[in-house]
Formats: sequence, C-alpha cells, structure tokens
Amino acid sequence: MESNLKTNINEEILNIEKIRNDFPILKQLIHNKPLCYLDNAASTQKPQIVIDTINNFYSTTNSNIHRGVHYLSEKSTQAFENARIKVKDFINAKSEKEIIFTSGTTASINLVAQSFGRKYLNEDDEIIVTTMEHHSNIVPWQLLCDEKNANLKVVKINDIGELLLDSLNDLISEKTKLISVMHVSNTLGTINPIKEIIKIAHQNNVPVLLDAAQSIQHIEIDVQELDCDFLAFSGHKIYGPTGIGILYGKENLLDEMPPFMGGGDMISKVTFEETTFNELPFKFEAGTSNIAGAIGLGAAIDYVKSIGIENIKEYETNLLNAATDAVKEIPGIKIIGNAKEKTSVLSFVIDNIHPHDIGTFLDFEGVAIRTGHHCTQPLMDFFKIPATSRASFAFYNTLEEVEQLTIALKKTIEVFN
Ligand code: PMP
Repeated sequence: MESNLKTNINEEILNIEKIRNDFPILKQLIHNKPLCYLDNAASTQKPQIVIDTINNFYSTTNSNIHRGVHYLSEKSTQAFENARIKVKDFINAKSEKEIIFTSGTTASINLVAQSFGRKYLNEDDEIIVTTMEHHSNIVPWQLLCDEKNANLKVVKINDIGELLLDSLNDLISEKTKLISVMHVSNTLGTINPIKEIIKIAHQNNVPVLLDAAQSIQHIEIDVQELDCDFLAFSGHKIYGPTGIGILYGKENLLDEMPPFMGGGDMISKVTFEETTFNELPFKFEAGTSNIAGAIGLGAAIDYVKSIGIENIKEYETNLLNAATDAVKEIPGIKIIGNAKEKTSVLSFVIDNIHPHDIGTFLDFEGVAIRTGHHCTQPLMDFFKIPATSRASFAFYNTLEEVEQLTIALKKTIEVFN
C-alpha cells in the first residue's frame, strides 16, 4: 500500500525494512490482509534473535541455576546472571543487587506492596496513586491498605489526560509512605512528569515507585538520574518473553525489606527454629526463576540497544503524530487523551459504535487493536465512558500501517452508519 502521508523522515531514522524482517510474525496475512499489528501496549512481538536465544538455551544449556556444580548448571547460571547485568546496564542501576527478576510488572508492584508496604505502613498512613493507573498499580495497594487500615489517595487529572501536580502537593503529608505512579499511561499515552513528581516526593522524604511498563520500550530510563526508589517493568512489552519482569529497587531500601516469598534460593540457612536469608538480589527470588525468560529478556535488551532507544522514540513519535493527524480528520471520532507529552498510544471513541464492534471490524481488515477498559476502569469512569479503542505503536510499524488503520476506520464508520 502506498502511503499518502507526507512524512518520509522516518525512513531516515530507522531501516524499517530490515527491522520488519527481524520479526517473523509480521509477515503473516490475517483474513487475507497484511497483518497490521497495533496492539503493542498489550504485548510486543519478538525479534528472531530473542526466539533463537530461548531456543538455543533449551537446546544447549538448560539446567537449573545457582545450586549445581556441573557444567550445564554453571553455564545456565552464567547466562542468567549475565542477563541481570544487561538489565542493570540498560537502566543504569548502581549494582546487580538492585535488579530482581519477577514474573512481570504486576508481580514487581505486589512485591513492593507486600514487603515494603507491610513493613512500613501503619494505621491511617497513606499511599498515593493517580487517576490514570493500571489496575495492577491500584489493587495491590488497596489490599495492603485494607489489611493495615491505611488509605489510598488519588492524584487527579485534567480533561486532556495530564496529572494535576497541585493535587499531588495537596495530598502529600507526613502520613504518605509511598507514591506509586505510572511513567506512561497505557490508555492515554500521557508521559507523566516523573522528575517533578520524584522531586516533590523526596522533598517530603517519600519514596517513589515508577510503573515503567509502558515507558521502558519507548523512553531512555536512567534510574540514577531519575532517582526513583523502585521501578517495575515487564519483559513482554520490550520485545522479550512473557513471564519475566524486573523490580529495580535502591539497595538500601531492598536491604531493609523483608522477603516476600519463602522457598529455595532465597535462604542462607534453614533450621526448624530459624531461617536466615540470602543476600540481594536472591532474597527476593524464591524458587526456580524463569531462567529462559531472563536470558530472552537480555537478548531483547541487546536488540533494542542495537537500534537505539532515542531513534525508537523519534520514529514512534512521528508515527503517533501521523496517526493522530489522520484519525482526527475522520468525522465522528474523538481522541481520548490529548496530553502535550505523549508516546505511542492513540485511544479513541466513535459516535454510536461500540469499541468491541470497531475492534472486530478492524480485525477483518488485518488491523489488530485493543478495545475495552485497558485495566483502567477508574480512568474510564473519569471520562464517563465504558471503553475505548486503542491503537498502540512500536518501531516496526509503518506509515503505511497508519494508513491501513485510517482506511479501515473509515470503512467501519461507513458500514455501521
Ligand atoms: N502497568 C501498566 C501501565 C501496564 O500497561 C501493564 C500491562 N498492560 C501493567 C502495569 C501490567 O503488566 P503485566 O501484565 O505484564 O504484569
């Protein structure tokens, strides 16, 4: 399909043909149409190198880690710990001890809630989140607050989907024990002013957890420069496998926190009278980890680095701008989320057509988008809508695909009207 969109600069930023060749899944026809995969905020596709790395691990190296003295176990352990170093370098953590392998963002946030939260939260204390949070950054805190008789406070947003920082200033007090905030909204695409949030929090001696599930794949993250206290992300959203994720925490905080789960690998010595715990990061990695997942994530990080996160950001911003301009022109469509700082997510509603019908119709045109509340029901309540349709972009998407989306949307409106 020839693109009428006037932006050719993207071809200069990335070698898109080569990149698309790296992702075997993209070559498919869906319902006889070229697959136009625009559900990247839900999960990203995997480059061949990630698939090969996992395949190779199981074909040549597979063995349990840390406890074996035999060759394969040592090789496995090396590969697993090497992946930890890759993550550490990628987010510029000070030490590998600050990198905990979990099963994903959700598990990472629950770890902080159940370990840090249980230790430091008392009756009437407060945790601050925002209106736009994903359920996985709301429910763990509700569970904790219920248990501790503590309270969840919510930073408000404006109609274009930006945080109202004044509201944070009003909420924060000596009762605040943690601010847990998303870096980028999975529903609106808003990039939150996290540097300012962290500054305000630290002026009040409050630590900050960043949910980086939607930013790690789009924006350069340097945890030392940001000075965030915890950071959570999922492997599957950064071109790595499912079932693996990261909790970064400052060493002094993690050191003081009690273990979250008990079991093998996280102990130093066990007797029936008493157990002492392993050092960081193993204290938080009970049981056999997702070894292949961690190694696959390491390969995904290498791949992203080879393309360059700055190039990715520039390319995706151009795609989002082109898509926003094109979709805005279609009568009957309203974009939800018009923040000044946005990345890679375009949410919208169409007069008189339910998002699920839009999603189903688009699927027949080969276009995969997501429809629903996107695990942000309080945000849907704020906008007084039950659901949106969401197109979300990755660096393997093209301007031609933006056009495929807009043509399919126009067709949908024609058919339903
Ligand atoms: N936070 C945000 C902002 C997300 O977009 C998601 C995934 N949609 C999550 C948390 C949860 O991630 P996971 O399901 O991989 O744990």
